[in-house]
Order: sequence, then structure tokens, then C-alpha cells
Amino acid sequence: MLKIKNIHAAYGNIKAVKGIDIDVPSGKIVALLGSNGAGKTTTLKAISGLMPLEKGAIELDEVPIHSMAPEKIAGLGIVQSPEGRQIFTSLTVEENLKVGAFTEKSREAVDMRMKSIFGYFPRLEERRKQIAGTLSGGEQQMLAIGRALMANPKVLLLDEPSLGLAPLIVKDIFQIVKRLNDEGVTILIVEQNALQTLKIADYAYVMETGKIILEGAGKDLLQDEKVIEAYLGGN
Ligand code: ATP
Repeated sequence: MLKIKNIHAAYGNIKAVKGIDIDVPSGKIVALLGSNGAGKTTTLKAISGLMPLEKGAIELDEVPIHSMAPEKIAGLGIVQSPEGRQIFTSLTVEENLKVGAFTEKSREAVDMRMKSIFGYFPRLEERRKQIAGTLSGGEQQMLAIGRALMANPKVLLLDEPSLGLAPLIVKDIFQIVKRLNDEGVTILIVEQNALQTLKIADYAYVMETGKIILEGAGKDLLQDEKVIEAYLGGN
């Protein structure tokens, strides 16, 4: 289980995260919701080792990881699929996926993982030789998630997987996230699409200006008036 304990993080004078606690139990989907600038991405960066903590601790199975280098954290199985996709646009789909498995020495293991990812994303299989920069937005998002999965994560960190996608594709992406979780991947998902996220999340935290202002089971927050008003458009 991943545990975030009273973490603080800042960019110079800007205090982006001001003492938050988050538990991500093994096998669950935990969501981090909140509007622009709430500190969600900064929290994921802190977990991945890309943002130093001013205070607090992050533990994976009770081992402190917050002073480790990003590669070491990834090696422990915490893998992030970043916001804005950040795929290699001049490489093919297949080459991008292989990059995700760079720590895996066995070619057979890489081939097997790729096959299982094509099971989730048949569109990527059809386009395996296509240059990634020419994929649609939804396909690029699938590729970003697929690439993270190539590292065989214990905990998958998803930063706004639905950003900028058409509603039908958003539905597909959330279904795939749920399926991944059903098959054993623990997920921490950052989203602005609160409705879809709360439908699949076991537990969710709502962040505002660096703090957690509300938390609860996904299905309970879906009924919470404050959440409905602020994030679900009042209906
Ligand atoms: P969004 O949904 O818009 O991505 P977020 O909840 O992920 O928002 P963060 O990106 O974590 O929010 O940003 C939290 C705060 O930190 C914001 O006020 C933002 O302006 C600030 N911030 C983020 N990155 C930097 C940076 N590199 N330098 C200075 N300030 C930053």
C-alpha cells in the first residue's frame, strides 16, 4: 500500500501542497479530484520522486520512498502515465511501448506484455507501426497508459487521462482503467472529470489550494451536495 503522510511541497514561495494525507490501499482505485492549480499534479510528482518534499513522508509497503531517485521509485513499481501524454511523437507505437519496458531484459517478457496491452487497446495493435505523433488524441492517451503498463506497475499513477478527449473515448478510457484494476493494478487517478472518476473510484479525495477539503467513498461523494455543486455541475 502507498501512504502519503502530511506532505508539503513548494515551488519557491508558492506552496503547492500544504500537508496532505492520502492512502492508496493495494488493489483499489483512489481518486484525487480538484480544480486547476489545486496541487494534484504536484502530489503525483512528489510520489514519483520528481518533486522534493519540504515536510512529510511517502511510503510504499512501509518503506519510505520520498528521498529516492525517480528511477528507483519506478523500479519499485510506481509508474506514472503523465498529463499531456508525453509520448515520443517521432517513434512508432511499438517503439514507444518498448521504451516503457526499458528495465526489462527479457525479450519474451517484453513481447508478452505488449500482447497483453494490445488486449486492452486493440487500436494500438492495428497501429503498431504508425508514428505516434500522427495518432488521434484518444489513441495517444491509450499509448501513454500502455507505455506505463509496459513497466508492469504495482501502482499506476494516472494524471488526467480524460483531458481533452471526446466523451465516447473518455468512456472507453475509464472502462479500461476499471478493467486494469479488476486485473490487479492499484491505481491513483488525478482527474477533473469528477463524475466518471467517482463512478469507478473506491475512495476519493478532493483537493483545493494545496489541502484535502473532503474525502470519502466514491459512491458517497457522488451523493454529496458540496461535490455535486462544485464538480458535477449542480445535477
Ligand atoms: P491542473 O489540474 O491545472 O493541472 P493541479 O491541481 O495539478 O492543476 P498543480 O499543477 O499541482 O495543480 O499546481 C499547484 C500550484 O503550483 C499552482 O498554483 C501552480 O501554479 C503552481 N505550480 C505548478 N508548477 C509550478 C512550477 N513549475 N513553478 C511554479 N509554480 C508552479
